[in-house]
Amino acid sequence: MSDAGFPKSILERLGLKPRKSLGQHFLIHAAVARRIALALEAGAGDPVVEIGGGLGALTFSLADLGCRVEVLEIDPALAAYLESELFPSHPRVRILRQDALTYDFAAAARQAGRPLFVVGNLPYQITSPLLFRLAAAKKALARAVLMLQAEVGRRLLASPGVKDYGILTVAAQYHFNMARLFSLGPGHFFPPPKVDSVVLSFTPIRPQPEAVDEELFLRVVKTAFGQRRKTLKNTLAAQAAPLGLTANQVLAALTALDIDPGRRGETLSVSQFVRLSNHLARLRTEG
Ligand code: SAM
Repeated sequence: MSDAGFPKSILERLGLKPRKSLGQHFLIHAAVARRIALALEAGAGDPVVEIGGGLGALTFSLADLGCRVEVLEIDPALAAYLESELFPSHPRVRILRQDALTYDFAAAARQAGRPLFVVGNLPYQITSPLLFRLAAAKKALARAVLMLQAEVGRRLLASPGVKDYGILTVAAQYHFNMARLFSLGPGHFFPPPKVDSVVLSFTPIRPQPEAVDEELFLRVVKTAFGQRRKTLKNTLAAQAAPLGLTANQVLAALTALDIDPGRRGETLSVSQFVRLSNHLARLRTEG
C-alpha cells in the first residue's frame, strides 16, 4: 500500500482506467490515508460514512481503527472490487453502490442510533452540492474530515472582504466550524490531479445568531453576491421583489442594522447576513 505504483497496478490488473468524470485520483500512501482517518477522531464502534471508497485506501485505515464503515461508491466496478476482493463479509465494512449526493445521512444516523462521522477524499466535482447536503443534515453529523481542492478550502475559510469570500463561505461558516488540517500536493495521488488539495475538518455548530428563515438567509446571501462589484443598494435593494420585499424595506433594514447601503455584499460578516435576513423576515411578515 505504500508503493507508489499501488493504485496504478491494481487498476491495470482490474482492467480499469481512472475515470476523470468521477474525480478518480487515488491516494498512494497508506500513511496519508491513516492521517486522514485519525483526524476524524472516530473511535471503535463509531458509525463512519466514507464518500467514494475508490481502491479502499481510507477504508482500510478506518476499519483498522475499529470504526463501523459504510462506504458510498458510485463506480460499480470499484464497488465490486471493494466488496469482493478487499472486504468480503467484513464485520465492520459495508459497501454501497450509491451516489453520495442522494444518500440519506439523517436516516443513516437514526439507524446507527447516534451522529455520523463523515470522511472522504472527495471527487472534486461534487464538493459544493455535498457540502450543502451535509449542512442540511448537520444534526445527523458528529464531525467530518474532507479532502478538497485547495482553492475550495481557501474559499471555505475566507474572511469578509477578500476575493475568496463568497456564497459557499457564508453558507458553510454558518453551519460549521472548519479548520485546515494539512495540504497535499498532486504527487500523493494516482493519477496526479492538476491542483493542490487540502484536508479540512467540519464540526456542526448552532450559529449565533440563528437565521429564523434559512431559505431567506441563503437567498439574501446569493443576491448580495450576485454581482460582486455592486453595492448592496444595487443588488439587494434593486432585486428586493423576488425576495418578497420592497427596495425601501431593504434600505430600512440596512439602516436599522447600521450597514451602509453603499457597501458591497462581500464585506458583510456571516452574522451580519443573519441579522439582515432576520430583519427582512420580520419586515416581510409585517408587510
Ligand atoms: N477514497 C479513495 C482514495 O482516497 O484513494 C478514492 C478517492 S477518489 C478522489 C473519489 C472516489 O469517489 C472515486 O472512487 C469515485 O469513483 C467516487 N465517486 C465519485 N463520485 C461519487 C459520488 N457522487 N458518490 C459516491 N462516490 C463517488
